[in-house]
Amino acid sequence: MPTAGHDPVLVAGAGPVGLVTALLLARAGIPVRVFEKRGALSRASRASTFHPPTLAILDELGVADTAVSAGRVVREIQYRDAAHKVLARFDMSDLAAETPFPFRLHYEQAELTRRILAVLRQLPGAEVTFGAEVVGAETAGSQVAADIRFASGREKVIGSWLFAADGAHSAVRNSIGIQFEERPYETRVLRVMTRQDMDSVVPGIAPLSYIFTEEGSCSLLRMPDCWRIILRVPAEITERQALEADWRREQLGRFFSLSDLRESDFISTDIFAVSRALAAENRAGRIFLVGDAAHLTNTRGGMNMNCGIHDAYAIAGALIDTLRGGPASMLEQRARERHEIARNELIPRTDHRVANASDWLRDVRDCAGDPGKSREFLRSASMLDMAPPVKPRGESIAG
Ligand SMILES: Cc1cc2nc3c(=O)[nH]c(=O)nc-3n(C[C@H](O)[C@H](O)[C@H](O)COP(=O)(O)OP(=O)(O)OC[C@H]3O[C@@H](n4cnc5c(N)ncnc54)[C@H](O)[C@@H]3O)c2cc1C
Repeated sequence: MPTAGHDPVLVAGAGPVGLVTALLLARAGIPVRVFEKRGALSRASRASTFHPPTLAILDELGVADTAVSAGRVVREIQYRDAAHKVLARFDMSDLAAETPFPFRLHYEQAELTRRILAVLRQLPGAEVTFGAEVVGAETAGSQVAADIRFASGREKVIGSWLFAADGAHSAVRNSIGIQFEERPYETRVLRVMTRQDMDSVVPGIAPLSYIFTEEGSCSLLRMPDCWRIILRVPAEITERQALEADWRREQLGRFFSLSDLRESDFISTDIFAVSRALAAENRAGRIFLVGDAAHLTNTRGGMNMNCGIHDAYAIAGALIDTLRGGPASMLEQRARERHEIARNELIPRTDHRVANASDWLRDVRDCAGDPGKSREFLRSASMLDMAPPVKPRGESIAG
């Protein structure tokens, strides 16, 4: 036990990033305490896309098999025009030489957190406390102190390190004074979930498809039990208008024949505002910011949670190495690399996807016609070029 007798590592937030952090540490025999302000895990439907490097991390943590068998494996990506003609097609099997997971997985993030919590509960040294809001933290010497609010009152909890995975409004980040300026994207996202098989509307449609018209684009994602249709809401449309059936119908009519869409199969319609932001720093002494606490971007391409899981893997992995006697400089370097990746890759890459639809489509068509460019496109869309290297099976960090 590398840290026997040491204070536990503390984690603020039991979202996907906090729980991956905790699982990695607990599997390495490092005592970890997670504090979650809600009374239970969030059931909200949010991230759906798990990219190949994230699946490799989940595999190392022993939770990929359940995810893959419960989720929807996606190997083909299509771009279509307004008449539904295929303009570009990509086959993720082209990545088979580079990753053991040459596909993306459509799977609800709330299913992943539920699964990780169940595994954590079996591990000695891991403790997850609900109804525990981290309201602030301090770092001094070889300890951190987190100020936690429970229903019964406040308590100061001492740890050796603290991972702030408490989301976009991170109380830890705010309490230590790290700047996080959110800049909203021009368009918001309207998400329609339907039970209807979209293959009956667009024959031959791939489980990840984009339809481009002169006026904009729409994305379709096939989930294990439904389809998500993602539309963009311009700034001048209010949230109330966007949620009205007439506005939704008008927008859907730009991409599909309305007589083919069965509204009775719609499960839900929600609207989300999306922002970009980068914490000025992702480390202060013994505190690390990971996931949404450190960076935010738009949902196109499905990268922000994936990037957060990569933060957790890289930084908690380096901490494990350091606690086992490795150089402390490695921890510093990993944290710095994750900050640079969010600034130089994550945010610009996702911005590029929404900035100008016709430029994006031209680039995509150009790549699809050339095997080398197509593979590069898939590597970039799958985050293979911006993820931390994952140890091969059998050489787990936690081993
Ligand atoms: C509609 C939608 C679709 C998305 N699709 C994708 C996608 O396909 N792929 C992708 O990569 N990303 C996607 N995202 C982004 C993704 O959902 C987030 O990046 C992800 O949830 C971040 O995980 P996290 O653990 O950092 O933060 P969160 O999921 O926000 O979790 C933070 C946790 O901390 C808790 N908490 C907050 N404050 C405190 C506190 N003070 N003390 C203790 N606990 C606290 C919260 O209750 C929560 O449980 C999507 C987002 C939305 C809204």
